[in-house]
Amino acid sequence: MLKEILVNNAMTYEYPPDGEILPIIDPYDGCTIGCPYCFQLGDETWNTNLNIKINISDILHKELMNWNKEDTIYLGSKCDPYMEIERKYQLTRKCLIELNKLNIKCMVTTKAGSKLVFRDIDILKLMGDTFTLLLGLSNLQQLSKVEDYTLLSNIQTANQLHRMGINVWVFITPILPGITNVDAMIDALDQDIPVFLDKVRLSRNTRPALMLERFIEKNHPHLASTYKDIIYNQSDVYYEDVKEKWSNNERVKFDLNRLK
Ligand code: SF4
Repeated sequence: MLKEILVNNAMTYEYPPDGEILPIIDPYDGCTIGCPYCFQLGDETWNTNLNIKINISDILHKELMNWNKEDTIYLGSKCDPYMEIERKYQLTRKCLIELNKLNIKCMVTTKAGSKLVFRDIDILKLMGDTFTLLLGLSNLQQLSKVEDYTLLSNIQTANQLHRMGINVWVFITPILPGITNVDAMIDALDQDIPVFLDKVRLSRNTRPALMLERFIEKNHPHLASTYKDIIYNQSDVYYEDVKEKWSNNERVKFDLNRLK
């Protein structure tokens, strides 16, 4: 259910196992993209409603007046900032406008294939090097629609934005054996876009692991044993092959656990 809410704080913080503190802006709490491997699914209360923080940009400026300009803020953890609801509420756009006024570095994570990011090209250009788009390719809805990766919406978005001078990093996280063909994806991207790769990192008997297992059994039954090996035995043969092939390539980075 959609719920418009008022918040007292614009910023939240996450504490990944590597000891870092990640400052986050989530204009929405809840996500409509539906990734079965999403870490947020570990919280059973998450996504029961889609909370729309209608006043978030109004309080952001005051909250960030004394922000250390060296510290990057991540926009999008419990939501995809460019999912369809953003078309109506424009909260991501409004937050970017405030960040730009304060000249604060920001990374926006998205997997949505909505092309809505192009609506904000005026702000992104003004933000220049303070802005980076972290564009995820493991969007299962998109992947189910095309075989030729040059037609994949998010690959086209990455290339177009990159050619417009916007900082874009591409993420294939998690790599989904039998579903995400890493070589073909990298080939379809402009050659100087950085690519980040990581494997499925889900512990057995957790909710995200069970959701992914169910998704594979329903939609890709021929891959069921491969994914059981990944989840229960931490054995990912395809990932090891990818790592061997790409680990000496400067453009390709591995093991960014904290990024979706
Ligand atoms: S991984 Fe990101 S895009 Fe996918 S459901 Fe979770 S929050 Fe949404």
